[in-house]
Parts: sequence; C-alpha cells; structure tokens
Amino acid sequence: MELKTTENQRMIADMVRDFGAKHIKPKMREWDDSQEFPVEVFKKLGELGLMGVLVPTEYGGSGFGYLEYVTAIAELSRIDGSIGLSMAAHNSLCTGHILAFGNEEQKRKYLPKLATAEWIGAWGLTEPNTGSDAGNMRTVAVQDGDYWVINGAKNFITHGKSGNVAVVIVRTGEVGDSHGMTAFVIEKGTEGFSAGRKEDKLGMRASETTELIFQDCRVHKDQILGEVGEGFVQAMKVLDGGRISIAALSLGIAQGALDAALAYSQERHQFNKPISSFQGIAFKLADMATEVEAASLLTYQAADMKNRGLNVNKESAMAKLFASEVAVRVANEAVQIFGGYGFTKDYPAEKYYRDAKLCTIGEGTSEIQKLVISRAMLK
Ligand SMILES: Cc1cc2nc3c(=O)[nH]c(=O)nc-3n(C[C@H](O)[C@H](O)[C@H](O)COP(=O)(O)OP(=O)(O)OC[C@H]3O[C@@H](n4cnc5c(N)ncnc54)[C@H](O)[C@@H]3O)c2cc1C
Repeated sequence: MELKTTENQRMIADMVRDFGAKHIKPKMREWDDSQEFPVEVFKKLGELGLMGVLVPTEYGGSGFGYLEYVTAIAELSRIDGSIGLSMAAHNSLCTGHILAFGNEEQKRKYLPKLATAEWIGAWGLTEPNTGSDAGNMRTVAVQDGDYWVINGAKNFITHGKSGNVAVVIVRTGEVGDSHGMTAFVIEKGTEGFSAGRKEDKLGMRASETTELIFQDCRVHKDQILGEVGEGFVQAMKVLDGGRISIAALSLGIAQGALDAALAYSQERHQFNKPISSFQGIAFKLADMATEVEAASLLTYQAADMKNRGLNVNKESAMAKLFASEVAVRVANEAVQIFGGYGFTKDYPAEKYYRDAKLCTIGEGTSEIQKLVISRAMLK
C-alpha cells in the first residue's frame, strides 16, 4: 500500500509553512502568554481557503478532500497547536455539522461566511456535568409554537465568545433517549444567548475556550439542523470526521517536537560531543520518528477511507487515540532532549508538551476512543 502525497497536499504544505513563518511564528509566544485568540490570523487563513477546506466550491469553500485537510492541520500544528486546534474545530465541527446536516437554505446562508472566515464558528455539545457522557445533557429546548426556548449551559466551547455562529446540541426529549436531542444553529447576538467564563488553560492557550449560556433563548424552528431528535446521532457522525482532524493536530505537534529535538540534539554539545552522538539520545530520536510515522499512517488511512465514503467510526478513533498518545510521548521526550532548556520558555519544547495533552482529551478522551474501538470490534 502506498499513500502518495498529491500535488495539492504539497502546495498546501508549502503555503502553510510560508504563512506560519510570516504570520504565526513571530507572535505565537505572545498569544500563548496572554491567552489571546488571534482572530486576524483566522481571517487570513480564510483568504487562503483553509477555513472551508472540505466545503464544496459552490458554497465558497476550497472543495478539497480529507488528505488535503489533514495536511493543512498537521502543518499548522507543527508550528502552533492552538492555531491547528481552532482551525480544526471551525472546519470539522461547526462548518462540518452544517455541511452534513443543514438544508439548502441553511448551507447557502452560513457556509460561504464560514468558509471565508468572515464568520468564526463554534460547536457546543459538552456541558459542565456531561462530557464523555454527552448524551446525558441537561440543556433543554421546549417548543412554543414555531419557536423553541432554550435554557442551560455548555462549557469548554472553542470560540464560544468570538464565534459569530454556533451549532448547539440540546435536549428536546427524554433524558437517556439518544433520539431526544436536537441541533440548532444560533447566531451571536440572539437574545438570551451569551458567552460565559473563558478558561485559563495549561496549553492551547491561543485557542479560545469558553462557556455558552442560554437564558430563555428563543430560536425559530427554521434554525433546526435536520430533524428534531436527530442532534445526538448527527453529533456522533460529526465527531467521526472530527477525530481525524484531532489525529492530524496530534501528528503536527509530534512532528514539530521531533523537528525541534532533532535540531537541538545536533547543536548541543556535552562531553565535547553533540548530544546526538550519545546512543541514549539517538535511540530516543529513532523511537520518536518511528511513532510519528505510525501515527501518520493511521491518520492518512482514516482520511483516505473518509474520502472514499467508508465508515470511519473505528479507524478515526484508532488514529485519534494513537496519534494523540504519540504526541504526548514525543513531546515529553523532546523536553528531555532539551534538558533544562526544555523546561524554559526560551525553547519550543515546553509548548509542544503543554499543547499535546489536549489531544488525548478533546473530541473524546483516550478512554472513550477505546470504548468506540472496542464497541466496533464487539458488535
Ligand atoms: C481546550 C478544549 C476545547 C474543547 N472544545 C470543545 C468544543 O468546541 N465543543 C465541545 O462540545 N466540547 C469541547 N471540549 C470538551 C471535550 O470534548 C471534553 O472535555 C471531553 O469530551 C471530556 O469530557 P470531560 O472534560 O467532561 O471529562 P469527563 O467525561 O468527566 O472524564 C473524566 C475522566 O473520566 C474518564 N471516563 C469518563 N467516562 C468513562 C468511561 N465510560 N470509561 C472509562 N473512562 C471514562 C475520561 O476518559 C477522563 O479520563 C473541549 C475541551 C477542551 C479542554
């Protein structure tokens, strides 16, 4: 089996590297320190077509497939995981949900704005008391004629404050019924819909994470995506694709940490030799490179299957599980190779280490990926 890199992938990788050198690298430390979400960077990514990678051209997107999408996220995350995470959440979750389940009118209304980053998108599934157990959510919508009135809160929502539009999945039926939840698309400025507290995070600090609050928020039935009661089932399908993007995010962070450690190991001298000449360091590099390669194969395999319209439920979970754990291990070893300097903010290793940890948690923890994989094996 050979997964050939396409001309488009090569073009995207070059474009992202140039973009990163000019618009991300000079400021990424500052954003990380101050936890600033750099909206202007996403507007520029929109101009490059990277905020609507999978959106067909008829809706203003780039019309690419998953191979190009994985390449774009991995190359961005090789530079800065925060930017990769926000790009992935915007593309896969909010935009991806509308693309997959919106009607023609909703697609025409929202996709061109999202694909160009005129608007930033958010997606709300998680609640303060229900993360892994999202199906047990308590935010509720009650029907009132042609309207639904929403009350409750979502938390850990990427772009909860800066997002211009959010897709939110809320309860419209009985607790415990997987067909008792519905997805609504809601614009910023809607009465009763606001952003709450912004999280102060370990890593991914330039990616904004906030609460969403609903207080008697009235939304028209035209804002429902698909059918009433299908929101949770839709969300699980959105996550099947989304997990490929978190695998790509993990892959990029792991590759970035490896690049940095490889270069440093040849520059840093101890005992009058570069530290790369010590087998203890060289073998670490060999293990790191092998794990990155394996993560890459699983990620691109899932992407290729998704392009072919196959069910990727198990494969996207495997790619996400493996690549995210690799990102954590590789970033950990990178800090070790940098020694004391790896523990300081003067070098890049500590940021990869902090950012990598999110990958084993967001869009389903490693434990939940094992649940998805084993369920697919045992059914
Ligand atoms: C930076 C960031 C961005 C995010 N962005 C979004 C977003 O845009 N939209 C959104 O909806 N959500 C978002 N999330 C939420 C994220 O998806 C959840 O944090 C994640 O699903 C885990 O849920 P939890 O935090 O409630 O952990 P919990 O579900 O409380 O899990 C706690 C621990 O228990 C384990 N556990 C739980 N259930 C089981 C089980 N059945 N078997 C074994 N172990 C189990 C978990 O693996 C974990 O180790 C984001 C989170 C972060 C940190």
